[in-house]
Amino acid sequence: MTEWFFQIKVRANDKYCEDFFAENWTFPPEFSGKVSADNKKEAKKKIEEEFYREFPLRVLKKDYPNVPYLLKITEINERMGGIIELFDYKSCEICEKEYRVIDSYNLGRGRFVGGKCCSDDCADEYYKRQREESYNNFENHKCPNVIYKITNKNNGKVYIGQTIRSFTLRWWEHFCEWIPNEDICDFKFETIEIIEDKSKLNEREQFYIDKYDSINTGYNKLRAEKEKKNGKN
Ligand SMILES: [Zn+2]
Repeated sequence: MTEWFFQIKVRANDKYCEDFFAENWTFPPEFSGKVSADNKKEAKKKIEEEFYREFPLRVLKKDYPNVPYLLKITEINERMGGIIELFDYKSCEICEKEYRVIDSYNLGRGRFVGGKCCSDDCADEYYKRQREESYNNFENHKCPNVIYKITNKNNGKVYIGQTIRSFTLRWWEHFCEWIPNEDICDFKFETIEIIEDKSKLNEREQFYIDKYDSINTGYNKLRAEKEKKNGKN
């Protein structure tokens, strides 16, 4: 006997669209399942017995307003891996409960939790962990330790900073914190030294602060004042 995948679709609205790509029937379908039968006709009969009603396989434009359901039946073959998987039992990546994607669809879950999680709650947790992981990967990414310099193109004032994180991330924070109310286009951002030995960062930063006199004449003065206020040295 052959296995048949079926979908019972519901009329989307009162407008029948002849556009090839337009969808007249809601997605996901009202119900999706599979049935064993020798041929399509027998498959249809089994489905109709199960649901106590008849379903059309095609709906003509003139009948569309009066027909609430449409039945799609497809023979399952080994090339339809995606559909076969819908019926496999999987272990939820979050709570490890056994579940089938097809059951999630049929429960009317609007979100694509398929393939990973048993429920919307687990999907929320899954996406949250994904976000945290990608952020950590970003943070732990091997960015070089650098000393950087921000220069105001109009007046030559300089800010010197260090970071072991993404240079662009750090200067953006600094820009917002130390140099507020300015137009970012007036500034030049550059890396002036890559430091292999992390323990040398403070020493090298101080070297450039002295070199450009950026506490007395530049923007490091703002930082020094703020750190003093916060009780730091
Ligand atoms: Zn779960």
